[in-house]
Amino acid sequence: MAHELSPSIQRILDFVNTYDLEDRTDMIDTPRKLGSWLVANGAMMEPAGVTAADVDDAARLRELLRTSLLAKTNAAGAPESESFSLPMALQVSTDGSAHLAGAGKGVTSALGHIVAPIPAAVADGTWERLKVCRNEACHWAFYDRSRNRSRRWCTMEVCGNREKTQVFRQRHSGD
Ligand SMILES: [Zn+2]
Repeated sequence: MAHELSPSIQRILDFVNTYDLEDRTDMIDTPRKLGSWLVANGAMMEPAGVTAADVDDAARLRELLRTSLLAKTNAAGAPESESFSLPMALQVSTDGSAHLAGAGKGVTSALGHIVAPIPAAVADGTWERLKVCRNEACHWAFYDRSRNRSRRWCTMEVCGNREKTQVFRQRHSGD
């Protein structure tokens, strides 16, 4: 499976990865940073009128997406059920096409724009390949290109081996 990830699906991964657990850096934790990120990533026209409540919404949606993608790599599953609702608009065109787009204004519409490709991704099987690294110190979002969709870590070299080493140590620590 060698098909390229569409920019709109890549943007979902990028959105989840605006928070880097390892460095504890957040690219969208102020109204200004959130506005710039949404504009730079084509989800919003101009970064005006972004509020602190928008920052909270974006973070909540991001972490919900992270938990959702993590459920595919982490056997333990999600701790509690949570959901996030956004207004969407269905656009049907005379040329035979139909697609979802974010509705509402400002950041609400921009967040809707980011998640709009999800239903189509679920339908075409792309969604099940979007995952989050199961390493608790990492939780990086990635696209699983493996043939049997079995990847559990962002990189086998770093996180995969780290976990293996940990399991090895636990098994061999004087019980
Ligand atoms: Zn990782």
